[in-house]
Amino acid sequence: YIHSSYYCTSLERRKEGIMKTIGLIGGMSWESSVSYYQIINEEIKLRLGGLHSAKCILYSVDFEEIEVLQRNQEWNKAGDILSEAARSLELAGANFIIICTNTMHKVAEQIQSNTDIPLLHIADVTAEKVLGEGIETIGLLGTQYTMEQDFYKSRLEAKDIKVLIPERDDREIVNKVIYQELCLGTINPDSRKEFKRIIKGLIQQGAEGVILGCTEIGLLVRNEDTSVPLFDTTNIHAKGAVDYALASSDPSNP
Ligand code: GLU
Repeated sequence: YIHSSYYCTSLERRKEGIMKTIGLIGGMSWESSVSYYQIINEEIKLRLGGLHSAKCILYSVDFEEIEVLQRNQEWNKAGDILSEAARSLELAGANFIIICTNTMHKVAEQIQSNTDIPLLHIADVTAEKVLGEGIETIGLLGTQYTMEQDFYKSRLEAKDIKVLIPERDDREIVNKVIYQELCLGTINPDSRKEFKRIIKGLIQQGAEGVILGCTEIGLLVRNEDTSVPLFDTTNIHAKGAVDYALASSDPSNP
């Protein structure tokens, strides 16, 4: 009889059977989409072992087009492009979607209304993690859109998390570093110093932790750079996607 490791055990067959296909809307920027792809696969390997890897489909947009629309406040048009991406992912067989950027969650509802598969919201999985650490007051770093507008903060505040953001000059620095360095793959030690200073300021204001609410910031700042816990949204969102992919329940009703 054939006894070989080529043949799956029934447990493994079950694991494979229940793994959902993750649809990633990426490219915003691709520097952080790389991290998503890597974390998702590492996490699947860690949890399932062997040669297991993630079932996923990546739709990567041209970020230049999106960034121009952001700057011109043409959010609806940007939402159309990402809705098209979501529909493509659905047709290609994705079971649920993640948008691999915090900022573009500004149009999360528009995207969700254009697809029949669920969307796993980055602020929701992050809020869960923050609350899990018993934290009530959190600092938020991200693009100016994410720090200043309501779409992201309100999602946290709805869960009774108090959100602190840096002052105006520092918000400008954070935003500039994101678009002019991190999204282009530039890691600048001077910018790391600036981020550490800005994080210290948030701690002085009462932040018990800081959300890295832009998917590239984790490339620059690490936990060892600060005295409070950092919540890296890329890491949290990617692992949250793996939770959903492996959950036996419907991802829309976790
Ligand atoms: N990736 C960043 C974020 O998480 C910024 C790029 C964007 O504007 O989408 O917000």
